[in-house]
Amino acid sequence: MESEPENDPGVDPSYESAWETALAQLDEVAELMGLAPGVHEILRSPKRALIVSVPFRMDDGSTRVYEGYRVHHNVTRGPAKGGIRYAPQVDLDEVKALAMWMTWKCAIAGIPFGGAKGGVAVNVREHSRDELERMTRRFASEILPFIGPERDIPAPDMNTNEEVMSWIMDTYSMNRGYSAPGVVTGKPVAIGGSKGRGGATSRGVMYVLFSALKQLGRGIDEVSVAIQGYGKVGGIAAQLLHDAGCRVVAVSDIDGGLYREKGLDPEAINRHKREAGTVSGFPGADPISNEELLQVECDVLVPAAIEGVITVKNADAVRARVVCEAANGPVTFEADKILGDRGVFVVPDILANSGGVTVSYFEWVQDIQAYFWTEEEVNDRLRLIMERAFLEVHEFAASKNLTMRQAAHWIGVERVADAHLTRGLFP
Ligand code: NAD
Repeated sequence: MESEPENDPGVDPSYESAWETALAQLDEVAELMGLAPGVHEILRSPKRALIVSVPFRMDDGSTRVYEGYRVHHNVTRGPAKGGIRYAPQVDLDEVKALAMWMTWKCAIAGIPFGGAKGGVAVNVREHSRDELERMTRRFASEILPFIGPERDIPAPDMNTNEEVMSWIMDTYSMNRGYSAPGVVTGKPVAIGGSKGRGGATSRGVMYVLFSALKQLGRGIDEVSVAIQGYGKVGGIAAQLLHDAGCRVVAVSDIDGGLYREKGLDPEAINRHKREAGTVSGFPGADPISNEELLQVECDVLVPAAIEGVITVKNADAVRARVVCEAANGPVTFEADKILGDRGVFVVPDILANSGGVTVSYFEWVQDIQAYFWTEEEVNDRLRLIMERAFLEVHEFAASKNLTMRQAAHWIGVERVADAHLTRGLFP
């Protein structure tokens, strides 16, 4: 990100990687809750990690090779579950961190899955759709022994979408010799996807944010919101929050951001983005950088892009009173302490963005039963789970004098630890 040179391992001694953040969060809560040392040690490492080489043919006939990853952090509570990300910075440590967060997330939401994540270190902007299809099918073939409806169920993440999921589902199914819709979630409805999955993460963010505002005594229509990242999560969150009455004052994507104190119209931005390929350059709003977006005057900041954007360098400059983490790991461990000391109410990622995996769970259940729900059923059940999870974390935080993040981690880690202790250590 152009505005983020300070969070760079080569430049900054205070740099904190996503994996360091994830480990520090686990270690802190293990100490607070008095976690059994053996279980703590097990949870500090992923259960298994696969690194694959992904060769594929370019449109001009040449060959390109990228590195791909699939990590299972923990499968004690059920099959592994987690997204697949295509981005240049993807590496083993990032995927390990994202897989660990998935483990806690599923446990907090009460979903019978473990945590996984995967990715390919690729810049999708350098490739045609055909090249991405060939790359995806080869990557799916390479991780085939890891995945399956009872083993590990991938889903979309950054720069992957329902089309990518359909290529993975088809590749897996062709190898098995029968259709296996339950191998991925976030796929098109035509091949066993769930209604409501597309907007589920953003809808879940909205439900927990509204629960937080209720606790803070703030009305939905009196808050201003800034959203970093205008993709599947941030873009739909902007629309939902706008439609619900919030004033969306700033949005951004990788190319830059927009600010308008009176509020932005997501529909107009969507029209501009469809033509220009970016929110940047939208007329009728002031251009801002991604760094400026994090610091705009607003009530609620929703990071919905990448990890590590709020660091010790800029945490003091965040002016929002609520940070609702739609992205995974947007706030480093050290920056989180600064926000906490300043009284910023942080709704942590493992709670805030669990709407996606919740409806992925619904999709998997529907695929297994071959019985599909209405969109109202999906959204109603999602709301119940999100509101209950928020209240559980909030009440627990209050009862133990913890931050929302500590409380969420405690609940997630405790449920996974319980499963370990109940099952016992093999052999
Ligand atoms: P996406 O690829 O659809 O959108 C990502 C957005 O972030 C794009 O607008 C992109 O331009 C922007 N972006 C990328 N790099 C950036 C940078 N360096 N600075 C500023 N903006 C940048 O991805 P998504 O699915 O919306 O995922 C966004 C975040 O939400 C990720 O952290 C992901 O792990 C998390 N998440 C996604 C889901 C899901 O269901 N898709 C579920 C839970 C969490």
